[in-house]
Amino acid sequence: MELKRRDLMGVGMGIGLTWAFLPIHVSMAKAEAGSGVTKTSNGKFTVYALSDGTVRRPLDAGFVRNANLSEVQAALAEQRLPTDHIMVPYTPFVVEANGKRFLMDTGFADNGPEGTGRLHENMRAAGIEPNTIDVILMSHLHGDHINGLRRKDGSLVYPDAKVYIPRPEYEHWMSEEKMNAAPEAAQGGFKTVRRVLQDYPQDRLEMFDPGKPVEGFETIAGFGHSPGQTAFSVGSGAESFTYLADVAHYPALFVRHPHWQVQFDMNPDVAQTTRHELLARMKEQGGLVGGYHFPFPSIGTIAAREEGYSFEAKA
Ligand SMILES: [Zn+2]
Repeated sequence: MELKRRDLMGVGMGIGLTWAFLPIHVSMAKAEAGSGVTKTSNGKFTVYALSDGTVRRPLDAGFVRNANLSEVQAALAEQRLPTDHIMVPYTPFVVEANGKRFLMDTGFADNGPEGTGRLHENMRAAGIEPNTIDVILMSHLHGDHINGLRRKDGSLVYPDAKVYIPRPEYEHWMSEEKMNAAPEAAQGGFKTVRRVLQDYPQDRLEMFDPGKPVEGFETIAGFGHSPGQTAFSVGSGAESFTYLADVAHYPALFVRHPHWQVQFDMNPDVAQTTRHELLARMKEQGGLVGGYHFPFPSIGTIAAREEGYSFEAKA
């Protein structure tokens, strides 16, 4: 494997001197497909963004609940992005810290749409064997994040790893009462969580309360997108990495315009407040962030704009 080191990419970028980006094994074809591997390390811990794939989604009026399609298209055009569709990436992260390998969210395994299920291919490209994952930190239990824990045939993808789940998230999706009260169109989410978690070995599952540390990570309540969505942070200040999951879904729209609400935000008003708070905090902190639907290279910093913020990709 060819390892190409870029010299101290952090210099002059306001993200501290010790981050070194090591883009590895990314052929142009893969990068164009929105797939690949990003690796960065600061000597204390190492972060990998590992694509599970990208899906083309036609842009319709419903994608942003509270903006006109023309405004959304203008925002995309301004950033030189297509205005008739969005290439939605699905990007789990691996962090090596505290002597362990942590996987954050899991992709689809073999349960997803065409173009997904590539996480293990990219893990191996990064030199990580899937069976060496020690701990899995789940941000929330939407299908695109949790399906990768269990294959279609029922087998567990990470039988030896410990899986941490935000308690309010587990309690929501596993509640019979909530499932029965949900409209037909919302039943699928409940069924997916049951498919994956019912009969999951109990000694491998652990619930945590967002806000309380887990295995050396700070956990930050990121509620609204889903009832218990949680962000995870390691390190401090400019030497930190925070996994934002779906707090700001697709950054060209929701980092730029934090008051915009993606159609998947289950409680859009709470999600909007959370988004403002966390983006402000990330900007202040100056560390690196990653998001599940952040396009390749998927790791960068949050910068302020006159209105809203921008995601400044690094690597
Ligand atoms: Zn998602």
